[in-house]
Amino acid sequence: MLFFTPPVNFENKNRREKYPHISEVFCAGQKECEDLLKEDGGGHLFSSNKFVNFVHCPVCSNEKAKSLLVKWGGHYVQCTLCTHVYVRNMFKKEVLESFYARSYVESMQRKIQRNDDDINYYHAMYKKYFDLCVASNQNLSILDVGAGAGGFVNYVIENTTFSISAIELCEETKGYLESLIGKRGIFWHGKSIGHL
Ligand SMILES: [Zn+2]
Repeated sequence: MLFFTPPVNFENKNRREKYPHISEVFCAGQKECEDLLKEDGGGHLFSSNKFVNFVHCPVCSNEKAKSLLVKWGGHYVQCTLCTHVYVRNMFKKEVLESFYARSYVESMQRKIQRNDDDINYYHAMYKKYFDLCVASNQNLSILDVGAGAGGFVNYVIENTTFSISAIELCEETKGYLESLIGKRGIFWHGKSIGHL
């Protein structure tokens, strides 16, 4: 597991003001989560056992983990035995599948990822991390879990020699991801999370 010493920053000030479509996606995402909560009678998305399971390390089943950070309500921890980093309050499989099956924000996000400005922004961010990897002589084998529109996969193929594999549920980007990855790795497409 490779950890980066902060800060690894990329200039993103005023980006939402400059590109209203980005703001639109953030607001739509928030509304989609709020609607989900309303349908289920309120509560908190990340602490209600209607939505999440509190899990042990998915790699080695160890119960002990060190707290790393909380991002958007997800509690990231690191296993004290195998060092795997995971989200402790993990969404239930059926919640995720139903959420992604009807999510209009995911579709909006995929369209934005094909916008030139967004491609440039993410490429600059990926470059910053990959430069650190190359400097550390890391021979990376990457698995992109939830490859989406393929922006990250495309960057790895065009700019590095690392092997890359990916997993994605979405039908819409299946063909593109398959054509990108080819001999550099394996692409798994699933109809459901259980299938993957
Ligand atoms: Zn572990």
